[in-house]
Amino acid sequence: MANASQPLQKKKNLQTCRRHGNARRLLKCRSSSSSSSSRFTVDDLPPRDVIIVGGGAHGAATAHELSSQQRGASRKVSLAVVESSLTPAHSRSSSGGESRIFRLTDTKSHYASMAFEALPLWRELERQSGAELLRTTGCLDIVDEQSLEDALRTSESAGATVETLTGDEIAKRTQGAINLKSLETRYGGIYERSGGINNPKTVMNSYYRLLREKYKQRVKVLSGHSLIELEDYGSSFSLLLKRHNPGMLEAPFARISCEQLVFTAAAANPLLMSRFFGWRSLRESCVIQKMSYGFWRVQDLSRKAMEQIPVWRLLPSQEDQSRSIKDGGVVRCYGFPIHEHDGFSKVAPHDLHTSIPYPAEDSDLLFLAQGERKPDDDILRDVHESVVSRMLGGKLEFAADGAHSCLYTVTDDREFVLDYVPGVERGRAVVSICCQGSGFKHTPLIGSAIRDMVMMHGGDLVGAGGVVNLNLFRADRESLGGGDKVAAKL
Ligand SMILES: Cc1cc2nc3c(=O)[nH]c(=O)nc-3n(C[C@H](O)[C@H](O)[C@H](O)COP(=O)(O)OP(=O)(O)OC[C@H]3O[C@@H](n4cnc5c(N)ncnc54)[C@H](O)[C@@H]3O)c2cc1C
Repeated sequence: MANASQPLQKKKNLQTCRRHGNARRLLKCRSSSSSSSSRFTVDDLPPRDVIIVGGGAHGAATAHELSSQQRGASRKVSLAVVESSLTPAHSRSSSGGESRIFRLTDTKSHYASMAFEALPLWRELERQSGAELLRTTGCLDIVDEQSLEDALRTSESAGATVETLTGDEIAKRTQGAINLKSLETRYGGIYERSGGINNPKTVMNSYYRLLREKYKQRVKVLSGHSLIELEDYGSSFSLLLKRHNPGMLEAPFARISCEQLVFTAAAANPLLMSRFFGWRSLRESCVIQKMSYGFWRVQDLSRKAMEQIPVWRLLPSQEDQSRSIKDGGVVRCYGFPIHEHDGFSKVAPHDLHTSIPYPAEDSDLLFLAQGERKPDDDILRDVHESVVSRMLGGKLEFAADGAHSCLYTVTDDREFVLDYVPGVERGRAVVSICCQGSGFKHTPLIGSAIRDMVMMHGGDLVGAGGVVNLNLFRADRESLGGGDKVAAKL
């Protein structure tokens, strides 16, 4: 165990790296760079107990949970967060931008329960950071009247207090900003008052500030470092990191070792798992979806009303979704009040996307060229015609420069992956991927679930004190190709 209070080396040790002869298993040496990687200058960094690869929202939350909850704990751990990007909340991660819906309503009740448990954790984080991380607006699920009962039951079973509203009541409460009359089917709503907007930029800045200031004795944040090679020595791992912006006295590479690893590299995780652990079926069962979203300019008339509407989701009937747009079809989507950009409202489709295949061999998802990330204008036009111009009273006009895109990694079953890495001795490596488009709201809860997995070191899994049902997120489930097959291959 590395000594948590071990002082950081003042002067970095520049040396020529040689492979350790006693490596139990060289997990991967990049074939294209193997000649250069056998002899090059690296900085040897002091070892850590736990290293978190990927410092997006979930990695930062894990580091925060591991460092903040150690007072009185029997085991104290030293940490490093390895993050490719130089700045948190960068636009190519999933945790960029300034708006994510927080809601206690969900068609899958376990996610609703998890959001319910995450709510007090968000408030606690706000207390610690002194910043507003979750703006409460209420959340309105708009569903066809026949499905209202079902939606109500699901929400209530997760513990949310909700009320049902008719279309007229919605129009009245939103001062006409949401008007359902021009939709073919009769729609109503489920309103839940604790829903709102998480601001990823503020959340990420808050986490990083806490890690760098309050917990700096325990956590080393290695921004601008990418994991490129990994070796397993049985009781420890050795990581080779590439520096994206080395300082004057730094080598272009760094090596660091640890006892336990946590992989929160999101979309890059399937690639890292495939390269380092031979877990290919994960990559094969994941798909990257490009989602486009837009900002609509709000005209003066409805501006005041649009500032005060709740966050909303429109869940159209099967019939409305299957009709073409010109025949009155409706796109499943969600939207925000005026929030991120002054005078603009953000609206995004739920299911319309372009699928992008995973690349064969590359750990760094920054691989996607700018062109591939271009938002799909056709999709946004459908959103505009079927929803914005009808349901939002025709008072919103699409801003030409307001289109954006982001990437989700999803599995067939749209469930998280949160487990120990198959084939590695239980407890030594944890992998977490939020395989759907609504993982931000669970961020502090995911952090505490991973904390438990690390601290239990492979013992009985408790998942944030039993709140997160880790059985649903197992690595060996059939939809991921089965972990037993993975272990057998290793
Ligand atoms: C546009 C958009 C809208 C969304 N809307 C919602 C919403 O309304 N509500 C909601 O709850 N959720 C929403 N989500 C989902 C939510 O934002 C994500 O689930 C969440 O941000 C995932 O965080 P993460 O830490 O897992 O991933 P990321 O933030 O992507 O972090 C992974 C990090 O790993 C780093 N990395 C990758 N490879 C390496 C490597 N080799 N070495 C070191 N570091 C590496 C990357 O640089 C990155 O910073 C949305 C997502 C997007 C993109």
